[in-house]
Amino acid sequence: MLYNFSHFSDAYIESRKYLKENIIAKFPPYITFQLVNRCNFRCIMCPVSYIKSNTNELDFNLFKKAVDEIAKYGSLIRFIGYEEPLLYSNIKEAISYVKSKGLKLHITTNGSLLSDELINFIIDKKVDSIVFSFQGLSQNEYMTIRNVNATKYKKVLNNIQNLYKKRVDTVPFMKITTTITKRDNLNSKDEFIKSHSKYSDEVQITGFTHFIHIDEFFKKPKIWSELNIEKPTQKESVKCFLPNYEMLIKHSGDIIQCCGAFSDEMRIANIKDSSLYDIWHSKKADKIRKIINSGNLTCFSDCKVCPIRYSYDEIENSVSDMIKN
Ligand code: SF4
Repeated sequence: MLYNFSHFSDAYIESRKYLKENIIAKFPPYITFQLVNRCNFRCIMCPVSYIKSNTNELDFNLFKKAVDEIAKYGSLIRFIGYEEPLLYSNIKEAISYVKSKGLKLHITTNGSLLSDELINFIIDKKVDSIVFSFQGLSQNEYMTIRNVNATKYKKVLNNIQNLYKKRVDTVPFMKITTTITKRDNLNSKDEFIKSHSKYSDEVQITGFTHFIHIDEFFKKPKIWSELNIEKPTQKESVKCFLPNYEMLIKHSGDIIQCCGAFSDEMRIANIKDSSLYDIWHSKKADKIRKIINSGNLTCFSDCKVCPIRYSYDEIENSVSDMIKN
């Protein structure tokens, strides 16, 4: 087996080896599944809130085919994406299948769909890590950016607290992460960390909430004035090495080398076409990698609006972590 991670975070440590031009992982140390194409929230910074599409989700047999191959390499599996993974109709079967192969599993969720039954299931199957994504530093900001009412906010908190109380031997690892804008009162960062650390292992304020997609993809330039925030400036030049170590499998089975891709422009193949290994080492994958590694980030519409091309002044530098002993 290529990888033998004893902790899910080892996959991220491994990925740092490939942050250089033309240094390509033999097989991705972590693979992201975007299991569905929908979300139960309508966050105002999220592209999913601005499209109408038919409900679609990854065929479970194709999911199993991919996991069977991934199990040969030992990569971390992640259920994350713009969409909400807990909406997948086979979510319990998918969790069971990954864990039955001995793989590490990470889930990022808005936390609103965790029932008591699902919480017990997650604990029973020993899901390794869960990140709960927030927006803003206050309940009001969360409700504004996430477009939800106070009942929904409280339900999310309640679900997180339940999981924290019930879990055994600190599994899953639980993290709460939020992004902020200049609308937030930065003096309340410590309070955010203090209050949420009562029911999580780590609280992270990861900088900025990114609205460029909404402005440029969806032609809504008024988003900045509506929210009373400034559009960030573009950096001079920036290179990206994500396609050297990351693979995304979308709900359609399409494969892309970036979990931040919203469009299908960087599609390299479909899971039905070939093995993941052959797709990863295909000419098309290499061609896309070379373009993106070179810093030519205007070639693909996803790269054009990617957060790494923008500068967020003091917000960018406000990253703050708290890990409990
Ligand atoms: S969208 Fe961003 S992270 Fe993804 S490949 Fe392009 S530049 Fe890199």
